[in-house]
Amino acid sequence: MSPSATTTNLLGLPRPTLEAFVAQLGSKPFRARQLMQWVYKRGEPSFERMTDLAKAFRARLSECASVQPPEIIATRHSADGTRKWLLRADGSQAFETVYIPEPDRATLCISSQVGCALDCAFCSTAQQGFNRNLTTAEIVGQVWLANRELAGTVGDLARERAVTNVVLMGMGEPLANFRNVVPALDILLDDFGFDLSRRRVTLSTSGLVPQIYKLAEHSNVALAVSLHAPDDGLRNELVPINRRHPIAELLEACWHYIDERNGRSVTFEYVLLDGVNDSRVQARALAKLLAGKPAKVNLIPFNPFPGTRFRCSPPPAVQQFRDELIRRGVLATVRRTRGEDIDAACGQLAGRVLDRTTVRLGSRTFGLAVQE
Ligand code: SAH
Repeated sequence: MSPSATTTNLLGLPRPTLEAFVAQLGSKPFRARQLMQWVYKRGEPSFERMTDLAKAFRARLSECASVQPPEIIATRHSADGTRKWLLRADGSQAFETVYIPEPDRATLCISSQVGCALDCAFCSTAQQGFNRNLTTAEIVGQVWLANRELAGTVGDLARERAVTNVVLMGMGEPLANFRNVVPALDILLDDFGFDLSRRRVTLSTSGLVPQIYKLAEHSNVALAVSLHAPDDGLRNELVPINRRHPIAELLEACWHYIDERNGRSVTFEYVLLDGVNDSRVQARALAKLLAGKPAKVNLIPFNPFPGTRFRCSPPPAVQQFRDELIRRGVLATVRRTRGEDIDAACGQLAGRVLDRTTVRLGSRTFGLAVQE
């Protein structure tokens, strides 16, 4: 029997839950903080090596608890330093995590679900449909694993910068997995957990309006919203959830979040699609929605994938769109594409590996077909 069947995985337990667990074993609550530091700050999975904990307590933990990150199925390294891990969900299902090093930071793009139910027209994850929500352990386990791999404790990888920023922009819609995502955010921010500042953790949503209000009650991480169109007609086509929660409602929720959480601004993601949403008129319409608001726009060059009907906007169109926004007082940046050679760029993550579509995607992505 695997240890997971018999022991409690401490990875993913928020501090109050871990304190209750520790108390059950007859220990003081502050032991939970010590444990968290070992697990998250030092990346230590073995209770035996947690030398400032009493021997008897360590022995008890070894019997009934474990630190179990997801299993790595494959690792890819991009020429630009980007790294991608394919992680096992269950059996044939997998999800992905992407590490993006930059001179002043190292960002980890993590997944919140296996697949996605939202069916955005230009996203490759949508093509594989929805499989299941990731658990809190699987969500924080991505950061835990990345740090451990980067520290060179496994294999002979050179030591690299630990994760400084986390973005929930991998596979899945994080607000559709609210129950598991919020405790994961708590652990990312906890002083005894990963201890990241709230400005270095960004949740990206396609616009689940009621859950944005709910998030404002439970967390204060940075918010990014996948807008992609300046009017409801087009957004209904590109981001179908818009039919339920149109742009005006979505923007209200965003401003509420900023007020409530004392945030600086919401980042609006806008994938530029050639001839679809990249005209000067559309840039003006977008500026009209956002000028004078706590907003900035992140323009994303479209990353094509097999079977898509969209094309990337040519660089002059991207430039024109950005200039038009700036001229109208809206902060706008263009996202540099990273990890393209390993299909790690936005919207290219496709983790499922066994059915017909994904054997194709999987072998293209990893140069190997993963079999059970
Ligand atoms: N479901 C969440 C988070 C995952 S998507 C959301 O929609 O925000 C993360 C970002 O990548 C989103 O802005 C998404 O719209 C963008 N994206 C998806 N497919 C893309 C593609 N093919 N090229 C470029 N960006 C893409």
